[in-house]
Amino acid sequence: MTRVLVLAMTTGYQTRSFGEAAERLGVELMFGTDRCHVIEDPWRDAAVPIRFHDEDASVAAILEAARARPIDGVLVVGDRPTVIAARVAQALGLPGHPPDAAAAARHKRLTRERLRASGLLQPQASSLQPRRFPVVVKPVALSGSRGVMRADDPASLAAAIERLRALLQSPDIRAERDGAHGEILIEEFVPGREFAVEGILHRGELHVLAIFDKPDPLDGPFFEETIYVTPSVGADRSAIVHAIAAAGHALGLCHGPIHAECRVNANGVYVLEVAARPIGGLCAHALRFESAVRNPQSPISLEELLLRHALGGAVSEWRRESPASGVMMIPIPRRGMLRGVNGVEAAKRVPHIDDVRMTAKIEQLLVPLPEGASYLGFIFARASTADDVITALRTSHHELHFVIDPELPVLAAGSLRYNHQHG
Ligand code: ADP
Repeated sequence: MTRVLVLAMTTGYQTRSFGEAAERLGVELMFGTDRCHVIEDPWRDAAVPIRFHDEDASVAAILEAARARPIDGVLVVGDRPTVIAARVAQALGLPGHPPDAAAAARHKRLTRERLRASGLLQPQASSLQPRRFPVVVKPVALSGSRGVMRADDPASLAAAIERLRALLQSPDIRAERDGAHGEILIEEFVPGREFAVEGILHRGELHVLAIFDKPDPLDGPFFEETIYVTPSVGADRSAIVHAIAAAGHALGLCHGPIHAECRVNANGVYVLEVAARPIGGLCAHALRFESAVRNPQSPISLEELLLRHALGGAVSEWRRESPASGVMMIPIPRRGMLRGVNGVEAAKRVPHIDDVRMTAKIEQLLVPLPEGASYLGFIFARASTADDVITALRTSHHELHFVIDPELPVLAAGSLRYNHQHG
């Protein structure tokens, strides 16, 4: 049976769509997930237990599993396992991104260095004593805008660095045991409009699946993603495609999904990053594809397109379906315990809304950016124009009401201990 390895942090809502797509295609999935290998298959999904921080052992465990269950293609969900995936593909002689390129793509300083060396427009590197403000402070190896902060003067820069250092010392980030988490990048703040590009590299050639507008301004001090809408109305499409293709090439990426972010102003296109993986979270649900040669046919998911490509299928016959489409990553408005969510049914009834999916759990501690690493949920819309999609997403979001209580007990205990130590 044809089998595709999917590396993911855990099996959950992000991998479910791969499961559905695999079923449609008659393909078997082998998951590789980050978990303690002492526990025997606790999730009963026959996943290969690996530890993302131990790349050598992870690659060895997957290659061992692949001897009994041969692998025909490799895909990843999320940033962390991209290098392991690349090494597995290389070891098995499967097409994929080279490991060195995948490693550079998930390291923001290496990305900057490679893109600059190729003559691409990049934010200027800055320092602890910038000559010019504003600057952006960021960790080199986190994702989802986590830890990314704008500073407009020396005082806010000092505060941002202290805040980032504290975040990098937090237990969940230390648990990743990634040496890169000791490093902080400071660079020029690039003003402009921001776009995201979803694509597939096929033996070095870029096939753009979608260019997303980000209609909400991303000017800081934190850079929370909200709305993605496609097709982009404001983009200079050819300049963006050209810059992303050149950046992918500069990094050495060559075969597999990419998700890129760029900012555009009068100077041109600044590629902020090209990740060696598809779009994250549930956002992929905003994309559906139709075949140019097999009409009429119902649209397929991004996951199905990625599985087909991982198994050697051509991507050129697939186009994004014609309606405009978008997603809102529902921001966390403030820190606290999520006690309830009201208005979901009303939010779903807003015209052009496809779905409203809450992913935060009741009684979960909500942590907003820059420390946080999740959203409250996702809203999806389809309409004939991008403007209608944006209006639908905003209207739907207004229907949602979140009951968030201060995390009193924890705060009290924490501050008591703090007083005790310092008082
Ligand atoms: P991540 O991988 O965590 O998304 P990025 O480096 O892409 O980190 O930064 C996240 C967001 O922060 C970007 O999408 C952008 O909005 C903003 N940002 C990052 N670097 C800059 C910069 N130099 N100038 C302006 N905005 C920036």
